[in-house]
Amino acid sequence: MNRLIPKTTLACGLLVMTAAAWLLAAQQVAPDLLLSNGKVITVDERFSIAQAIAIKGDRIVAVGSNSELIPLAGPKTRRIDLRGRAVIPGLIDNHMHLLRAGATWKWEVRWDGVGSRRVALDMLRSRVRTASPGAWVYNLGGWTVDQFSDDKRPFTRDELDEIAPNNPVLLQASYYETYVNSRALEALGLDGKSSPNWLVRDSSGRATGRIQEAGVREVAAKIPVASAEEVETSSVGMIKDLNRAGLTSFGSAGCEADLLPLYRRLADQGKLTVRVYCIAGVGTGTSSEQVNRALPQIAQLKMFQGDNYIDNIFFGESVYGPLHDPMFLEKSNPRPDQLALWRQIITEIAKARLPLHVHAELEDTIDAFLDQIEAVNKEYPIKNLRWVLAHVNRLQTRHLTRMKDLGMYAAVNPWSVINGGINSRIFGDSAYDMAPLATIQNSGITWGFGSDGSRANQILPFTTLWWAVTGKMVGGTKVLHQTISREDALVAHTRKNAYLVFQENNLGSIQPGKLADLVVLDRDYLTIPADQIKDIQTVMTIVGGKLAFDAEAK
Ligand SMILES: [Zn+2]
Repeated sequence: MNRLIPKTTLACGLLVMTAAAWLLAAQQVAPDLLLSNGKVITVDERFSIAQAIAIKGDRIVAVGSNSELIPLAGPKTRRIDLRGRAVIPGLIDNHMHLLRAGATWKWEVRWDGVGSRRVALDMLRSRVRTASPGAWVYNLGGWTVDQFSDDKRPFTRDELDEIAPNNPVLLQASYYETYVNSRALEALGLDGKSSPNWLVRDSSGRATGRIQEAGVREVAAKIPVASAEEVETSSVGMIKDLNRAGLTSFGSAGCEADLLPLYRRLADQGKLTVRVYCIAGVGTGTSSEQVNRALPQIAQLKMFQGDNYIDNIFFGESVYGPLHDPMFLEKSNPRPDQLALWRQIITEIAKARLPLHVHAELEDTIDAFLDQIEAVNKEYPIKNLRWVLAHVNRLQTRHLTRMKDLGMYAAVNPWSVINGGINSRIFGDSAYDMAPLATIQNSGITWGFGSDGSRANQILPFTTLWWAVTGKMVGGTKVLHQTISREDALVAHTRKNAYLVFQENNLGSIQPGKLADLVVLDRDYLTIPADQIKDIQTVMTIVGGKLAFDAEAK
């Protein structure tokens, strides 16, 4: 038998080569890219730390020490000296309204992570300066005035008029309220006498420019829609910003049919530097007739027909509109007739063996959903379908026990990163357990972080990780009683999320065989003071072995 292996190779293999080197030698090729002299936070099962990573094509082929990996480099290998910097796996957001965000990104004055009202206004001013007369200047969520540590006052019509006398300005704070100037009131048709009750007026009857929660979506929908060409530029710019933030993969809530072809085209051209795992479904309406019409469409749905860049993976995030918890409601009361329709729909989803990722927030809603899922599970087992409850800021121990028994997972989308102030006014003391992070972590359930951005929340992952570790919302106000360790938080934004998007064999940790999605950081996530986690900057983002963002590139 030994005759098949030349003796010299055998001796060499046994005596000199390490396992990592052997893997490469077996492929008889030098790596395309070698990163060395770093602190590689692999986020593997043992949370091990390495120094170097070898990449061939779009995959990691070896991870180890400098002395093991540097000799593998050939004349054509591109070498990157990490100069001691920390490297983590590409960050995964398990729930973002990605495609929709790209359609407006370029025009939005984004205030993700901005903790000062003065700085926010400076950003607004500079945008107004470059805007052509009459053009809309706006943002659509991702912030609230409570995140401003210097001044939490709402924006006034007069203040915005002074900054932008010639442009309509619309500033949407989360889904809570919107602030507009006179030009916007005019453009929205709200300057006349008749006006909806969500338009706040002062004692003299003059509109203050403040629009309450009930009107937020309606006025946002009136912002002019950009051309397809402009939407492409905007989306490409957003993708670059996401890579700069350290993000490389998304559970994408929505995956709108009019926007998805753009992403397909970018992927086919090798230009897509985020991976898009779609959470999408079919409209189920409200009446039982509409629900019955939707059922055959559900039966026809197919998942996992895509590739490593774009795929459909979940039915979601809405199952049945009337049981979709609003953001600032204290208590829900799902009716039996509504739950019966909800059950009809999820029965069809279970029958078709589809994964489900469903919006669920309030305690009674989660209880009621679990009642229905337990009943359906008896007839059509959901184990291995990775059914996920998403948002779940009110998750309780009893829910976690039931979810674990059913083989379910939790996508934690922490709205309090920006909504902490509003939450404590509405929900009182219980706001400080939204989400109950330690309870979720200690339950042993598989769970991960999503932002639910770009409207319901900010999208920066290091802001989310900082919130999880320190319990502080943007601006620094303490909003959480339960925090978790920075290791557990990172696992929830990488390896656990890889599982939540069905990519545990491809993503989520820096290990041989996985796709080479990595982020090089300007400081060490594991050892810097916790308050600095939000300030971490990405030096380099690599997606599929290619440099997608390089802070040092000119
Ligand atoms: Zn949702």
